[in-house]
Amino acid sequence: MDKIDIKNLTLEELKNKIKRFSIPTYRASQLFDWIYKRRALEFSEMNNISLGLREKLDRYYYIGSIGLKERLRSSDGTEKFLFELSDGNFIETVLIHAQTRNTLCVSTQVGCKYGCVFCASGTRGFVRDLSPSEITDQVLSAQKITGDRITNLVFMGMGEPMDNYENVASSIVIMNSQEGLGIGSRKITISTCGVITGIERFARLGLQANLSISLHEADNKKRSALMPVNKKFPLERLIESCELFIKETGRKITLEYVLIKDKNDSIINADGLSNIARKLKAKVNLIPYSPVYSKSFESPSQKALNQFKDRLIKNKINVTVRDSKGKDIQAACGQLALVKARP
Ligand code: SAH
Repeated sequence: MDKIDIKNLTLEELKNKIKRFSIPTYRASQLFDWIYKRRALEFSEMNNISLGLREKLDRYYYIGSIGLKERLRSSDGTEKFLFELSDGNFIETVLIHAQTRNTLCVSTQVGCKYGCVFCASGTRGFVRDLSPSEITDQVLSAQKITGDRITNLVFMGMGEPMDNYENVASSIVIMNSQEGLGIGSRKITISTCGVITGIERFARLGLQANLSISLHEADNKKRSALMPVNKKFPLERLIESCELFIKETGRKITLEYVLIKDKNDSIINADGLSNIARKLKAKVNLIPYSPVYSKSFESPSQKALNQFKDRLIKNKINVTVRDSKGKDIQAACGQLALVKARP
């Protein structure tokens, strides 16, 4: 029988599984404590669990982990980690330090299927989904490497979280639970290019987590040209699923809008975006495009950025501009590509 990575299981799942091996369910909380609080890497370390039970656990389970390959630090303090997975694939994780919080930007897939034309993540296609353990271990590893506690989590690394919904949801349940990492659901944000099947499931998950939509265009035809996902899930359906999310969770949505020079940075674009933001009572976060090697897109001029922002303000839309962090280590959103292929 193949061993199971115990870090793929939520507390409830672990309780149910060990019951079948005649292990009392309170042991599940004890195991969570060892794995997520004390960061045990082997059952043999768990010295308040009997040797017999440790051996039994060892027969059925292992404690998965990802390995640090490279750590890059930007002059502004942002850090980027390259992790190697057990099958030799690589993923990237970014840690952004701010005064009161440490935000970790986690990957959810190796590669991406969605092929947004401006983004680096999809350039080498899709390889595979990350497991809950591999998602969660980005947080555990970043904490271990830096000694900092991760307070906020954004699913904005490589991959499309809503396309790996089950594993992302399990990892959130694990990271959110008090016995796990205890990261408050309001400190967790999922970002999606608009996979509405995932948005609808996320709406019904019953967590107070945040949803960000990578909108980038308010016109269907133009959005489909930038983001092929829009052909399958056009704006009307995307907006409907956002309305469902708001109704089910009572949370506000953020519309992410990457400004690309001469593509989507005109006043007409700003008005289109304002209409959708108004309809959803959403905040808008403007992100100046960070140029990606091999792509011809450019950042907007400061003037275009200001005009765009001012137009949103004039339209009474709540708008922020994301300051670009970690430029010198290619840590900006959408720059996370498969830097190294499988050996
Ligand atoms: N697939 C999810 C998660 C990725 S988040 C999503 O699309 O939301 C990464 C964010 O960075 C997305 O909003 C993405 O559109 C944006 N992005 C991609 N390439 C970028 C670039 N070169 N500069 C700035 N933002 C970029």
